[in-house]
Amino acid sequence: MSTKQPLLEIRNLDVSFRTQNDPLRIVHGLSLTLEQGETIGIVGESGSGKSVTSLAVMGLLPQPTGFISNGEILLDGRKISGLKEKEMRKLRGNEISMIFQEPMTSLNPVFTIGDQLSEPLKQHTKLSKKERKARIIEILKTVGIPRPEQIIHEYPHQLSGGMRQRIMISLAMLAEPKLLIADEPTTALDVTIQAQILDLIRRINKKKNTSVMLITHDLGVVAEICDKVAVMYAGEIVEYTDVRTLFDKPLHPYTQGLIASMPNMNERKGELHSIPGNVPRPTELPTGCHFSTRCTFAMDRCHKEAPPTISSGNNHTVSCWLHAIEQKEEPLEMEEENNVRHAITS
Ligand code: SF4
Repeated sequence: MSTKQPLLEIRNLDVSFRTQNDPLRIVHGLSLTLEQGETIGIVGESGSGKSVTSLAVMGLLPQPTGFISNGEILLDGRKISGLKEKEMRKLRGNEISMIFQEPMTSLNPVFTIGDQLSEPLKQHTKLSKKERKARIIEILKTVGIPRPEQIIHEYPHQLSGGMRQRIMISLAMLAEPKLLIADEPTTALDVTIQAQILDLIRRINKKKNTSVMLITHDLGVVAEICDKVAVMYAGEIVEYTDVRTLFDKPLHPYTQGLIASMPNMNERKGELHSIPGNVPRPTELPTGCHFSTRCTFAMDRCHKEAPPTISSGNNHTVSCWLHAIEQKEEPLEMEEENNVRHAITS
């Protein structure tokens, strides 16, 4: 058994938001690990809690409402949840960096690209002006920006969406962080540019051994670059495994629905499949399994009791009664038996 310490470890994390009434729990009991150089996809629909999870890791939960109400986050074995803002600021941009969906909101429209890239180098390094410029040109070349000597004098609005996202990636990579968090980094881009940006993230991951946490609603993106994946639904991880196993043997009905909704899968099957309904609001979570209102396999038990998380071997876990029942080999009610058979053969 490996005793190597993971780069990132999230243990039993709850994230809540203060409201006029009781705090509202948005993320519940989330645990995952990420090794150095590994890429994890956190996948789910809007409202699943994936972005809140990434903000908790960055120490950027909206203040004063958002807070970690249980559990802990460790980076390189050091507990970072609960650190003072001053200490978190030192980590951000140095050890952990983040890129967001819409770079225009993260880049300052009144400063040139060169000024914006120079600022973190001034703050975190002792490089001279000339050395900073050389470093900036070098990183712009690395992320595939043509004419970097001219681009450093231009403003964000003069660049295309794909170029701006490359600038954001170069900003995030300036200090060579150990962990890069990318929140829907390609959603606002057209398909060709999406592929280029994913390829860029993959190259950085391989060349610099940077760990990547990729937040996405798109399983196609996960299939492209991730080693493992956590499928989130209504604030919880419902399935967790390596990417190959997820696509070969998805166990949770929600994961199966997400995979069936992928465009390529639909082309092959000649049908358009999507999961009916929406992720419930945190104030309106159904009793029992939170997916029960949308699940075609839901049984009586699903509406009453939350399913346990069970291991299916090979670091594959799933939270679903179908598989808990299958493993325990208890005598089944007729409805349960039919659902288990159907789920396993479909
Ligand atoms: Fe569907 Fe029940 Fe499994 Fe939830 S526990 S995903 S409702 S079968």
